[in-house]
Order: sequence, then C-alpha cells, then structure tokens
Amino acid sequence: PMARDDQVYDAVRRRVVLFPLPFQGHISPMLHLAELLHARGLAVTVLHTDFNAPDPARHPEFAFVPIRETLPDGAASPETDIVAQLLALNGACEAPFREALASLLLSQRPPDVACVVVDGQWYTALGAASGLGLPVLTLRTESAATFRSMLAFPRLRDAGYLPIKEERLDELVAELEPLRARDLIRIDGSDEDALRGFIARVADAMRVSASGVVLNTFDAIEGLELAKIQDELSCPAFAVGPLHRMCRAPAEHSLHEPDRGCLAWLDAHPPRSVLYVSLGSVASVDPAVFEEMAWGLASSGVPFLWVVRPGSVHGTEGTPRMPDGVGEEVRSRGKVVTWAPQREVLAHEAIGAFWSHCGWNSTLESVCEGVPVLAQPCFADQTVNARYLTHQWGVGLELGDVIERATVAETVRMMMTGKEGDRVRERARQLKLQADQCVATSLAIDDLAQYMLSM
Ligand code: UDP
Repeated sequence: PMARDDQVYDAVRRRVVLFPLPFQGHISPMLHLAELLHARGLAVTVLHTDFNAPDPARHPEFAFVPIRETLPDGAASPETDIVAQLLALNGACEAPFREALASLLLSQRPPDVACVVVDGQWYTALGAASGLGLPVLTLRTESAATFRSMLAFPRLRDAGYLPIKEERLDELVAELEPLRARDLIRIDGSDEDALRGFIARVADAMRVSASGVVLNTFDAIEGLELAKIQDELSCPAFAVGPLHRMCRAPAEHSLHEPDRGCLAWLDAHPPRSVLYVSLGSVASVDPAVFEEMAWGLASSGVPFLWVVRPGSVHGTEGTPRMPDGVGEEVRSRGKVVTWAPQREVLAHEAIGAFWSHCGWNSTLESVCEGVPVLAQPCFADQTVNARYLTHQWGVGLELGDVIERATVAETVRMMMTGKEGDRVRERARQLKLQADQCVATSLAIDDLAQYMLSM
C-alpha cells in the first residue's frame, strides 16, 4: 500500500529534472539536493550519462533515465586534461540530453515538469533545456568565492592579472581578497586560453538561460561572497549548503567501494591522534611527490589513514607501491586504503586533522566535522579553497608548494601535536558550531522549492 500511495502522490507532484556532471565531486551534491527537494514534495527524475552512472538502487524514490551518450575516444580518460574532458562531455551530451528531456516531456500526462537543474559545468545542457521552454537552474558545486572569481575572469584579464604572470603571483587580487593571483583557478597542462574559453561559455550560458543559481555553501562561511554574487546576477541565488549536512540521512554516492575496515582500525586509536590523508577522486601526483609524502608520513611518527587510489600517481596504472623502506612504518603506524568512507572517517573522534587537496566537498566535510586541514591544493578551485581554509577561516595550515619529506614530517607534527595545530583545531571547532547553527536554522531549501513550484 505504501508504494501505491507514493505513486498516487507522485502523480500529483510537480517534477524536477536533474542532470549531474558525472564526477564524484558533482554527483553527490546533486543527489543530496534531489533528496532535499523530494522531501519538500517534488518528484525527481535524474537524467544521467552512462559514463560514471549513479546507482539507482540507492534511491528507489527517484526515476533514473540514461541519456545514452557516445563519448569520443579518450574523452573521459584520466590522461585527457580536465578542460578538454569538460568540452568533450558538453559536446557529446548536448543532443542526447535534449532528446531524453524532450521525450520525457512528451510522456508526461499531464505535464508536470516544474524545472530542470543542471550542473554548473553543463553549459550545453543549460541551453538545451531552456530551448525546450523549461526554466533551468544551475547547481554550482564549487565555493561562492570560486564562482565569483569565475564571473570576474574577463575583468581580471583587463586588469592584467590574467594570463597569470610570474612577477604578480603574490599580489592580492583587488576585488577578490584574500585571494592572490597564484590562488586563481589553474589547471596545469591545459592552456590558459582553453580554461578561460570554457569559463566564458559557462558564464554566458548562465547569463542567457538560467532562472536561478544554486550554491553548495552557506552564510556562516561565505556570507560576503554570496552577497556580492547576488549583486552581480540578474536571477536569484540560493545558498543551500552544506548539502550533505542538510539531508537527514545523506545517501552514499561513491563511485568506488569504500573500505569500511578502516573505521574499526580508527576505533583502536585515541581521540584526535590520527591524520587522514586523501587527495580526492581526481587529483594525481608525480612519483617523486608520492615518495616524499610517504617518507614524510613515515618519519613524522604520527598514525595515519591514507587513501591511495589506483592511478593516483602519474605513470602507474594500478595502486602505487610504497617506496622501499617505508612499508614497515606503514604496517606499524599507518593504514592505506584505496577508497575510504570519508564522511564517516572525518566524523570519527580518532581523527585529528585532514591532509587534503581541498576539493570543495572535502573542504565542506571537514568544516562541518570541525577537523583542521593540512592543505595541499593540486589544481582547479583547490587553490581558492586552500586559501580560504588557511587565511580566511583560520582552520588550516599550508604544506607548501614543494612537497619535501623533512617539511612534511615537521608540518604534520606541528598540526598533530604543536601549538599551531591546537590553534587551528580550536578555530575548526568554533566553525563547526557555526555550521551546525546554520544547518539547524536555514530555510534556503524551502525557499528554493517554493521558487521552483512558482515557475
Ligand atoms: N571521497 C570518499 N572517499 C575517498 C576520497 C574521497 O568518499 O577515499 C569523497 C569525499 O567525501 C568527497 C568526494 O569524494 O565527497 C571528493 O570531492 P571533492 O570535491 O573533495 O574533490 P574532487 O574529487 O572533486 O577533486
């Protein structure tokens, strides 16, 4: 009977159609948004690529529809640079997305689609949905500060900050403090023109076609940035984050099977004694950097839980091998896994700090758990997030541009047992309280759901 009631209810619900970008850091926030909208009375259809398809079993209450794209060879390979991947995905998915959405509209009797939400990087889908006459919102999965910096790109070029110049790297960017020129989004290996071109397409599509912008952030950490964004946009912006915390029981959307054994390993450690190390789902490092990380961790004397993904070291296909000599240390004091249940790890009381690449989801997850961060930004918006963690919120320490074993060991010890570590840990604890307060009182999702239903 439950199921039947649900179906009846679904038949009268207005529907929101979502189209996530098929990467880990984008799928989770979009599906958490879906959960929240569903809980506020909207029916949910998720259109998705076959590439990195989400698991429908996790959400029996949503409809999942594959768009059946054909990707050009190598388009989604980790060897292809990220800007080229995003351009290829946008090109290959535009027509299949439009067709899937059009046939969904035809099949709805009576028509029930209130609006579409596409990931912020799907500029072609944004245009396609709006071309079918539907209101479209975009979900920004990066911080408000990063989003602002992207909107400012044309002005930054006029002001001479871009292309990034060696001699101006440490200059504060006039309208974007505390960011310096060196903190602006960068993608090593992609040429700056391609990156600027991509950002321009995203911004243009948004200005022309978006009826609203949804951001996975919140006032307590980015109030000023949000106010400035709203001044600059002609459509409303909704700061609905931290999305994973707004959900009552956020579903796990890992593309890889997490190694849950590490939670029992953490149980055997005293509070705040373990360093968690992970560079997210995409970043990879040179073999020399990997070796310095391993030696630095080994000689720090600190227990650590380290996520070493297959393919996370350039030039190795499988799981990278520990350098000779480090293995013994790892066996005695460390635990290495290929994928961790990260949110649960960060919530574990044994964790004392997070050595992170500062992806936006990882940043939010550590802020929400009150865990201080050792920042090793690798590319894209990670430099922006690292700067905010260390210089805006005071909850992080920098590992430095060059990863070198002696400095790593010293910085790890400073974080885990030194005064500096205590200072940032206390700040992280306070920031977590502010985040909790925000989660308890935010009405942003209700406002967003109402806005969607009004369209
Ligand atoms: N993650 C995880 N287990 C891991 C590593 C990462 O569950 O071993 C999750 C993490 O909790 C976060 C996401 O993967 O939600 C990574 O997103 P983020 O924006 O931090 O970085 P990206 O992978 O996009 O660079």
